[in-house]
Amino acid sequence: MTDQRGANVARRAEEYRLLAELRGNICRCGAAKTPDRTLCRACYWSLPESMRVALYRRIGKGYEAAYAAAAEYLDRHVRGPR
Ligand SMILES: [Zn+2]
Repeated sequence: MTDQRGANVARRAEEYRLLAELRGNICRCGAAKTPDRTLCRACYWSLPESMRVALYRRIGKGYEAAYAAAAEYLDRHVRGPR
């Protein structure tokens, strides 16, 4: 397997994981959420507006980066330092 092909496989696996989480009804924090929303209401409304808006990007069109930024923000600001 070439490096490029490995990167593509890894990217698709991450897209699939994010899509499954998006379609599901459990937020990354463990609370119930509405399917097709990234986060539960508490997490969503904890984000700055720019991050909330970014989560409406499509998978493969910036959603992954928006999700990563939101997850990092929530871990840092909402749950506190580990
Ligand atoms: Zn949540």
